[in-house]
Amino acid sequence: MLENYLAKTNKPLVVVLTGSGISAESGIPTFRDKDGLWEGYDPREVATPEAFEANPELVLRFYNERRHAANAVEPNAAHKALVELEEQYNVIIVTQNVDNLHERAGSGQVIHLHGEINKARSTADPNLIYDIGDQAINIGDQCDKGSQLRPHIVWFGEPVPMIPLAEEITRRADHVLVVGTSLLVYPAAGLIHAAPADTPRYVVNPEMPELPRQSNVRLYEEKATTGVPKLVQSLKNGAQA
Ligand code: NAD
Repeated sequence: MLENYLAKTNKPLVVVLTGSGISAESGIPTFRDKDGLWEGYDPREVATPEAFEANPELVLRFYNERRHAANAVEPNAAHKALVELEEQYNVIIVTQNVDNLHERAGSGQVIHLHGEINKARSTADPNLIYDIGDQAINIGDQCDKGSQLRPHIVWFGEPVPMIPLAEEITRRADHVLVVGTSLLVYPAAGLIHAAPADTPRYVVNPEMPELPRQSNVRLYEEKATTGVPKLVQSLKNGAQA
């Protein structure tokens, strides 16, 4: 799997860790508002296996609404600028987002740590995954083995199967970009530490709660749609020099 991402080019490797902030200006709200709610819901009521067990209708409805909303918006200037970076770098995006705005912008290599909203999976076999596009998942919708379908989302308290691959890749990074994530949700937040100590890190976030305690971190304290194009331009200039 690692070879799929690294073997085909000798361009310098840029690993981009993205979170909900990069999609905010496309119109998808970030996870936490000032009340700690997500679209009016306590995340524990909709984003845990216990919630699905207790109230599957509510959880399916919540994700059906999120899917519909995510498919109604467009990639923004930040998603698009990351595509331009591919001219000079091997760019691998490691996203906590479940939307597909990176892919729709044109990014070629995207690893979804927390699943994908446009996919459903079997409750009996996690390897049975289906592309569903914008379709709703309803009670009674079954996988090929006859079990109920659920959103292909990593809920709180569930393992994050893509983390080892993301760590392996980040360990080889020549540059690490962190865009629109508070770096508060583990294990994704720990990835910034996987890169070699001398690898430059660039953070784009208008309200970063706390910068990682590393010397070579540069903060762009602004929104993704202005900060990412600037950062991309400076990386492209650096590569030419
Ligand atoms: P978070 O809510 O912890 O952090 C979001 C960060 O984005 C904050 O630090 C905020 O300052 C920053 N931000 C807000 N607007 C921004 C902008 N315009 N430009 C740049 N930064 C901006 O979210 P998280 O760290 O991504 O983790 C939350 C979890 O919620 C993830 O697991 C993710 O799966 C899920 N989630 C995903 C989506 C999505 O797919 N778009 C949306 C909401 C939640």
